Amino acid sequence: MSRFEGWLVGHVAGKVARLAVGMALGAGAGQAAGWPLTGVVLGGLLAGTWMTLRDARRAARLADWLHGPTDRPAPRERGFWGELAYRTERLLRRRERAIEAERERLRQFLSGIEASPNGVLLLDPEGHIEWCNGVAAQHFGLDPQRDLQQRATNLIRAPAFVGALQDEAFDEPVTVPGAADRGTLQVLIRPYGGGMKLVLSQDITERERAEAMRRDFVANVSHEIRTPLTVLAGFIETLAQLPLSEPERQRVLALMQQQTTRMQALVADLLTLAQLEGSPRPAADRWLGVRSLLDTVRADALALSHGRHRIDFTGGEDAEVAGNEHELLSAFGNLLSNAVRYTPEGGRITASWSWRDDGGACFEVSDTGIGIAREHIPRITERFYRVDASRTRETGGTGLGLAIVKHVLQRHGGEVIIESEAGRGSTFRLMLPALRVRRRAASNEALAA
Ligand code: ADP
Repeated sequence: MSRFEGWLVGHVAGKVARLAVGMALGAGAGQAAGWPLTGVVLGGLLAGTWMTLRDARRAARLADWLHGPTDRPAPRERGFWGELAYRTERLLRRRERAIEAERERLRQFLSGIEASPNGVLLLDPEGHIEWCNGVAAQHFGLDPQRDLQQRATNLIRAPAFVGALQDEAFDEPVTVPGAADRGTLQVLIRPYGGGMKLVLSQDITERERAEAMRRDFVANVSHEIRTPLTVLAGFIETLAQLPLSEPERQRVLALMQQQTTRMQALVADLLTLAQLEGSPRPAADRWLGVRSLLDTVRADALALSHGRHRIDFTGGEDAEVAGNEHELLSAFGNLLSNAVRYTPEGGRITASWSWRDDGGACFEVSDTGIGIAREHIPRITERFYRVDASRTRETGGTGLGLAIVKHVLQRHGGEVIIESEAGRGSTFRLMLPALRVRRRAASNEALAA
C-alpha cells in the first residue's frame, strides 16, 4: 500500500469512527427519550452531514487555491485534505521548475542564434514570420517585434526570394539585394518539421567586391602584359621581314629593350604585391637604421633623375625603424621614383624624416611636379589607377607603385597621407606608429660608428 493509500484508508477509517461515535451518541440520546433507533439514525445523519460539510469546505479551499494564482502557498489542512493539498502543491512547483528550466534553455538557444553572424528567420507553414534574429532584421529591414506573424513575402519582396519560396527551391541559395538596396545577401531556405522553414541570410557584399576586384585585377594584368607583347611581336616581324639599315635596326632594338624593361618592372611589382599579400606581418623587433635605407633610395633617385632635379634629404640620422627592409625600401623608393617621374626638369624634390609628438615618425616626400587633381586623390592608391595612362607609359610606371606603398605601410601599422594640387606639386607622408620607430640608443650609435 502506498503512503497516499494509507492516508486514504486513515481518512475513511476516521469517517467511519466519527459516524459510529455520532450514531452511539444519537443512540444514547434516543434511549433517554424512548426512541433509541431514531436516535441512532439521527446521530448518524448529523455526523455524516457535519463531515460532508467539513470536507466540502476543505475541498472548496483547495479548489479556490488551484483556481487562483498558484504562487500563493496551498491551504494548510490537517489529515487527508492537507496531504492532498501538499502533494498538489509539490507537483505544481516541480512542473513550474521544469517549465522555467525549459524556458531558460530556450532563452540560451535563442541568444545563441542571436549571436550568429548570419541572419536567421523562422517561417510557419503559411510563410508567416515566427521569429527572427537581429542580423536577419538588419539584413531584410525588419522590425523583430512588429513584423512577427507577418507574411514574409509581403516584407521581403526580392523576386528571387519569393520565387524560391513559391517553387520550394530549397537546394541552392539565392542572391538578393539587402534592405534599402544596401549590399548583397545570399539566402538559403531550408524546410523543417511540419512545413516550417528556416531562412538563413549572409552578407556577401565584401566577398562580391573582392571577387570583382580580383576579376578587374586579372583583366588589368592581362592588358598591361599584352600591350608590350603586341609591340614586341610587331618589332620582331619588322626585323624578320624588312631589310633594315644598321641605324634603323639599332632604333628598333632600343624600342624592344624599352618594352622588355616595362614588362620586367610590371612582373617585379606583381611579385612584390603577391609577396606582401602572402607573407605574415613584418616582425616588430627587427630594427633597421633609417639612414642607410634613405642612402639607398637617394642613390636610386639621383640615378633616375640624372641631374634633372634638385633632390634634398633631411633627418633620420638617429632613427631606427622596425620592419622588413625590402618592403620599406620599396615603399620609400616608389615615392621617390614617382616624385622624379612626375616632376618636370628643374623641379625640386625633398625627402625628410621627422618625429611626431605621439612618438611616431613621418617620412615625407614633396615635389614641385605636375600634382594630382583633387578628384583622383582618393583612388590613387588603387592598383592600376592612373591619372593619365599615356603619361605613365611615357614615364615607365606600372600603376602598382602606390598600391605597394599603401600595402607596406598597412603591414607596418602605418598609413599614407596624400596632399596634392594639380600643377603645384605633391606631398606624400608615410606615418609610422610609435611601436615601430625609435631613436638610436647611444650604445647602438657607437656600434654603428
Ligand atoms: P605609376 O606606376 O603609374 O606611377 P603609381 O601607383 O606609383 O603608378 O601612381 C599612380 C598614379 O598616381 C600615377 O599614374 C600618377 O598619375 C599619380 N602620381 C603618383 N605620384 C605622383 C606624384 N608625385 N606627382 C603626380 N602624380 C603622381
